[in-house]
Amino acid sequence: MISQSELPAYDPSNPDHRLYLFFESNKLLLRRAQSADRDGYVFERLAKNSLFQKIESGTPVAICQNGDHYVFFSNVKGYDFPPELVAEGCEAATLRAIEGYGKEGGKLSPELFEDGPVIRANAIRIPYLNFKETDYIYRFRTDKQRNREVYHVDASSTALYHSALCDAIKAVKRTKERSAADPARLDFGAVEYLLPSHFGFCLGVQNAIERAYETIASNPDKRVFMLSELIHNPFVNEDLRRRGLRYLQSDKGVPVLDPEKGEAYWDSVTDEDIVIIPAFGARDEDKLKLIERGLPLNAYDATCMLVEKVWKAAKRFGQKGFTVVIHGKAEHEETKATFSNSSKYAPSIVVRDLKEAALLAQVIKSDSETERAKLFLPFNALCSEGFDLSQHLEKLAVVNQTTLLRNETLRIIELLESALEDRYGRAHIEEHMAMSSKGDTLCYATQVNQDALAQAIKQEVDVAIVVGGKNSSNTYQLYRICEEAFGERAFYIQSESNILSRSEIEHFIFPYDPKNPKQGRMETCAFLPVRDTPLKILITGGASCPDGLLQQIIAKVNSYFDSERIRSIDEVITSVEAMT
Ligand code: SF4
Repeated sequence: MISQSELPAYDPSNPDHRLYLFFESNKLLLRRAQSADRDGYVFERLAKNSLFQKIESGTPVAICQNGDHYVFFSNVKGYDFPPELVAEGCEAATLRAIEGYGKEGGKLSPELFEDGPVIRANAIRIPYLNFKETDYIYRFRTDKQRNREVYHVDASSTALYHSALCDAIKAVKRTKERSAADPARLDFGAVEYLLPSHFGFCLGVQNAIERAYETIASNPDKRVFMLSELIHNPFVNEDLRRRGLRYLQSDKGVPVLDPEKGEAYWDSVTDEDIVIIPAFGARDEDKLKLIERGLPLNAYDATCMLVEKVWKAAKRFGQKGFTVVIHGKAEHEETKATFSNSSKYAPSIVVRDLKEAALLAQVIKSDSETERAKLFLPFNALCSEGFDLSQHLEKLAVVNQTTLLRNETLRIIELLESALEDRYGRAHIEEHMAMSSKGDTLCYATQVNQDALAQAIKQEVDVAIVVGGKNSSNTYQLYRICEEAFGERAFYIQSESNILSRSEIEHFIFPYDPKNPKQGRMETCAFLPVRDTPLKILITGGASCPDGLLQQIIAKVNSYFDSERIRSIDEVITSVEAMT
């Protein structure tokens, strides 16, 4: 088998070079043979002829050698099928349909029948045929390109997304997007709130939400699906559902059923529908299912570019011969997507935390093959196919789920580095540990929210409230920071409805360890202390927490105090604005 770099460039005059043309909808351009004698017609690939000249396409990409010929893919610009081609007996077919033609035997030309399996095996590459290393599926919109109007369609959406208080804090405190400043103090009189300079929505989440709302609004006649939850916030997901969005699968990958028909939506998705890929990205398996159905993947892919950056880092490490260690939660959509991408280029393994990293370090250090295999048992379900213990733990590079604690990733890197040093010696460590992975791949938005919170916890407070969805990993990391500083006075909640009264709050025990039944549940805890002097409350929100929720929490807490002792929101906003 020849390597990718040895494949030839496309030569249209070479009869052994077979070119397949795909539309941006991922459908293959076929021609119906003029003189078909089997079953009435035969589909052929579009040969180099006059029709070919009418189609603008990208540079052909060599896919592989198949027997005595080479297979090339190229993409036709645009989604629409040029009408003049219809008259000439052409059609754009989904890969699923072509598979059907193949099963019916006589409907495919022999060469198309022969290349069918190769086309399918490489279909995941179709949407990215002309991507360069520096290209991203979707770049963050600039401030001018942003479409903030989409949030405010009715009072309920406005209440969810808008907070005049948060806007005022951001204007004053967030002069730099990527670096944290002092927290903001909101003095309401009987209560003082401390809000970190950075909290809540990151650019990746804002981009994904805006695209989802725009897609729903501009396609009223189509079914619009989200592959799974757009972000980990139930209120945002519910608002999207209210506007007509459907979900194809749960955050755990379980297919969602159509309530009217009782069948999985996955079974009925066609090229008439739209499927949006969330900010976490998607596994190749899921993307392949969409490509096969002829859905235009890139047009509705909201994968965050910072997630894609991790994939690119994993690819670079793999090309240099490193095994990629992904610090992440194996059940999280983003880690699944990163694992799926990384496994294409490198042996890959997911490590959840320091405990698992320590176990992997033991495997590396052990000289006994039997012991290594035994210690490695918990990782068997967490590593890529064909992972070979005898060679794939020799050269390591670490990337991470973008929303974890940076310090934990750094400690994992230290642990693995020290194990490799033990085994191969300090002098050789650079051959065995990718030093560039020391910068880790945490996203800056997660990092700046953590940094800003780290500044805020330097001040003593009565309670700390962290707001975010139950399955929001970055929110949990913020909670961990507060828990470390304030112990049982730190609470993880989803919204103001978790504040039951002045004295009670429902705190969420995050399911960090999904096997522990005591996790993933709400617990009612004592909330505010009773005293006459002003209380101090720290509030922050995860990257998927809309600002409106924070303001609703402040309003609820304020409602527990005599109105004469509480300043109005407008008064407090004026004080915040005066801080400039
Ligand atoms: S938290 Fe970071 S990686 Fe995730 S969507 Fe936001 S910016 Fe992107």
